Amino acid sequence: MIYQLPKEIEELKARARDFSDSVLLPLEKEWPLHTDEVSFERKLSIGRKGIEAGIIAPSRPKELGGQGLGALGSVVVLAELARTTPGFSTFYDVGFPFFQEPFPIFFSASKYIQDNYTSRLIKDGVTYAMMMSEPQSGSDFSGMQTTARREGDDYVLNGQKIYPTSFLWSKFSVVWAVIVDDKNKPIPDTKGRPQITAFLVDHDNPGLKVLKWVDVLGIDLEPIVELKDCVIPAKNMLGEIGQGMGIARGQMNRARLGWGAAAIGSSERSLELAVSYAKERRAFGKSIGQFQAIQWWLADSYIELQAMRHLNYYTAARADRHADLQKSTFQTAAAVNKVFCLERALQIVDRCMQVHGAIGMTQEYPFEYLHRQLKSARAAEGSPQIMRHIVATDLLGKEITNLTA
Ligand SMILES: Cc1cc2nc3c(=O)[nH]c(=O)nc-3n(C[C@H](O)[C@H](O)[C@H](O)COP(=O)(O)OP(=O)(O)OC[C@H]3O[C@@H](n4cnc5c(N)ncnc54)[C@H](O)[C@@H]3O)c2cc1C
Repeated sequence: MIYQLPKEIEELKARARDFSDSVLLPLEKEWPLHTDEVSFERKLSIGRKGIEAGIIAPSRPKELGGQGLGALGSVVVLAELARTTPGFSTFYDVGFPFFQEPFPIFFSASKYIQDNYTSRLIKDGVTYAMMMSEPQSGSDFSGMQTTARREGDDYVLNGQKIYPTSFLWSKFSVVWAVIVDDKNKPIPDTKGRPQITAFLVDHDNPGLKVLKWVDVLGIDLEPIVELKDCVIPAKNMLGEIGQGMGIARGQMNRARLGWGAAAIGSSERSLELAVSYAKERRAFGKSIGQFQAIQWWLADSYIELQAMRHLNYYTAARADRHADLQKSTFQTAAAVNKVFCLERALQIVDRCMQVHGAIGMTQEYPFEYLHRQLKSARAAEGSPQIMRHIVATDLLGKEITNLTA
């Protein structure tokens, strides 16, 4: 249990707050509703300021160029960034280069992958996208239909993927596919399950085509991507055959922890604004903070924010102790954290918006931006129903809940 943050994490938190206040907050007024309107060069320059501020790669081990402060270090930084609208957009990895933390497997992959992909992520600020979801399967990850067929030294990928966030900025994607034989029939593992496997696919591969761009609430344009006889070298496999599910789970658990932090940052900022407005704004001859209805909105928001922060820190500390985000024991903790923090944050931001009356609905204040982003976050990387399924499975057992996600 965490009762006090370690000194070095407190210092990291202070640096992140300073970055958020001095670099991100001044950008807020001019930050567009769609961050795809911000040039990549501009984002790169903000990413470089993050390096100067000493807040990049908090969770990555020191020997890999990070700060070695674990998941706890990471959520503390993310919560500070998410106080601002540009900072919140970082969570979709369409934010600032260098802020995206590559999967741990990028650092233990083959020399070829480390030289050709990992090093670009670290040194050049290149970003990557993740292609899991398909038109027919989102929550049901194991129902994916994209196939990978071995041909000599290559794999040939076929299928469609939807909504890979940050595709617009990225140079390559991690693509998940089911291994099939030369008749396109899945080759099952020893337990009869499809062997879902992760591959790296460059975006300039002629077999990869964007069919359509879709405008998604609170986020930029997201593509529907077709992989048609997309040939990639076998050495572009990330991990081994059949390890795709574990890789995806580790990544999503980490992302779910980050969503808890995003929820905290956006709630904290909203509450600060609402408290100050409640003291200043007058109605019926009184400050609106003197009305009990307003007091209770503020008090409830504060109570919930305290609970969110404790849960998020506790979950991060737990991830650090277990040191393996892929473990199913951690999956439940990450799910609890995501569903609780995001649902509370949506309510807190909504209340604070209402404290401000009509002006709270305008873009003079960050509420409507944060509200849209939080709604999208609730759906991404595991819906609230799927989070509850994970928890119920832990309580009742897989035989009863029949969970496939
Ligand atoms: C902002 C955003 C960013 C995204 N970024 C990416 C990305 O980078 N890469 C990527 O691959 N995908 C991405 N996605 C897609 C996202 O992961 C999927 O949308 C998500 O997994 C849900 O899948 P679905 O939309 O197909 O919904 P479905 O799985 O079809 O679910 C539809 C509804 O049914 C519910 N449901 C499904 N199964 C159950 C069940 N067993 N019990 C109860 N209810 C159930 C769901 O909760 C949901 O309400 C993104 C989505 C959003 C909104």
